[in-house]
Amino acid sequence: MGEIEEHLREIRERIARAATRAGRDPETVRLVAVSKTKPAAAIAEAFACGQVIFGENYVQELVAKQPELPAEISWHFIGSLQSNKVRQIAGKVDLVHSVDRPSLAREIDRQWGALGKVCDILVQVNISREQTKGGTSSEELLGLVREVAQLPHLKVKGLMTMPPFFDDPEGARPYFRKLRELSDEVREAAIPGVEMRELSMGMSGDFEAAIEEGATLVRVGSALFGERQYH
Ligand SMILES: *Cc1c(COP(=O)(O)O)cnc(C)c1O
Repeated sequence: MGEIEEHLREIRERIARAATRAGRDPETVRLVAVSKTKPAAAIAEAFACGQVIFGENYVQELVAKQPELPAEISWHFIGSLQSNKVRQIAGKVDLVHSVDRPSLAREIDRQWGALGKVCDILVQVNISREQTKGGTSSEELLGLVREVAQLPHLKVKGLMTMPPFFDDPEGARPYFRKLRELSDEVREAAIPGVEMRELSMGMSGDFEAAIEEGATLVRVGSALFGERQYH
């Protein structure tokens, strides 16, 4: 068994155990394999082991790798996204996790609309308010969702967050819990067209805590592909 296959098997087992511990069906948690900085060959290997969703952070890297890989792959865009680069990924990704401002939402709407398509998105929330991270504030979330919900070529499916870094995965847990509470608040607002079915939270160091707090999408990179050399 290759290393990626072995890691994938371990991660899937850990996902299933965390879900079961939380009284959840493991099928309700999907793994996003974060492949930034990793070569197409590593992605192809994971795909051959049944991994279908891959998350990329950089537009240039995504558009370079995508044509080399099977069309059955579902690509998610998880990194901070500049409006002037949206056109390059329009129609090429199934979910954008990182929508955090009206201008970006409008550009996604415009570019997907030009293709006659609808883009599924998550709204990224910066719960810790760290300057270095993207995301709307908890206070501005509801207003942003209301605004984005007006756009015809964009559909809000849930929320995403990236907590501050902690050595101990328990450190991130309160942020995961907060994201779930925020998604409950948005759901209660019953905004037409808005679904709160996805919670994208948890990475290599803390995805089990995230699953226990309700994650439906966990974004795992280094635990699957090994440490990254840069970025
Ligand atoms: C890189 C990255 C991840 C994966 O991080 P790992 O710690 O390598 O699992 C998840 N989410 C986002 C937004 C990232 O940029």
